[in-house]
Amino acid sequence: MPIYDTVLEAVGGTPLIRLHRVGGPERARVLVKLEALNPGGSIKDRIGLALIRAAEQSGRLKPGGTVVEATAGNTGVGLAMAAAVLGYQCIFVVPDKMSPDKIRLLRAYGARVEIVPDVPRDDPQNYQQVARRLADSVPGAAYMGQFEQTANPDAHYRTTGPEIWEATHGQVGAVVAGAGTGGTISGIGRYLKDQNPGVEVIGADPVGSIFTGPVAPFLIEGMGEDYYPDTLDADLVDRWEACSDEEAFAMARQLARHEGILVGGSSGAIVAVALKAARDWEKPGWIVAMLPDTGRNYLANIFREDS
Ligand code: PMP
Repeated sequence: MPIYDTVLEAVGGTPLIRLHRVGGPERARVLVKLEALNPGGSIKDRIGLALIRAAEQSGRLKPGGTVVEATAGNTGVGLAMAAAVLGYQCIFVVPDKMSPDKIRLLRAYGARVEIVPDVPRDDPQNYQQVARRLADSVPGAAYMGQFEQTANPDAHYRTTGPEIWEATHGQVGAVVAGAGTGGTISGIGRYLKDQNPGVEVIGADPVGSIFTGPVAPFLIEGMGEDYYPDTLDADLVDRWEACSDEEAFAMARQLARHEGILVGGSSGAIVAVALKAARDWEKPGWIVAMLPDTGRNYLANIFREDS
């Protein structure tokens, strides 16, 4: 094991793990990429440093400044880790549907957290609008813009995509991911299709999100949107499959109980979609499902004792 200079060097290099006991019988073999093993507990650790560096390079963020972001929680943790190492302050704006565990977590890293109602994007109280206004009004503050900055998908093109290709020795038939910003699915999708245009990219989408429509409220956190973000390249997605909150949360509980893998609701939805794709799969190669975050974020809701 190498000795790392800072925690940021420990981001990435997550394992692929084969599923055995949930689902079945499937024709294809399903691997999950366990992003919970990043030091901040999610796939968004991969973009924290990249977003900060992009803001520094464009001159928007100066030494000792304040990082501002609209986040479902995980990007906040990724940014907070990088901000701690680099000496920045943090303010995060979080919709009130997010689990209390995630909000406590952001405060544990020393961030200021503003909680706003979970309202559509054109509402002035929407978390992205509030975060932009805060970045304009606080001296030395810069909006990170995970929904607009190419640094987001680029981080997955540079790290997550190559990790999948190398670990499977190029034997990947399909990748299944969700889309919040779309950074994950676009970065990985582009990298894998650059290596082999035959790799199928499957988007898992909460019922109520725009990618499978029609738009309505849903409980799954971190993925699903009511608009198409700039950071999503929808042309790379071969097909979208919808998954309900109930199915996603039931699958998250099954993964903990039958595979020993504790992950969140978006991971539950992604595995449910991956297992369905595997059932009538005709092509060679692994189906790789991207599991974005740890179930420790959801002890108060998905994993409540009575659930
Ligand atoms: N699931 C969870 C729990 C997340 O926090 C995120 C990030 N918003 C995603 C899925 C989707 O990732 P991306 O933003 O890269 O599309």
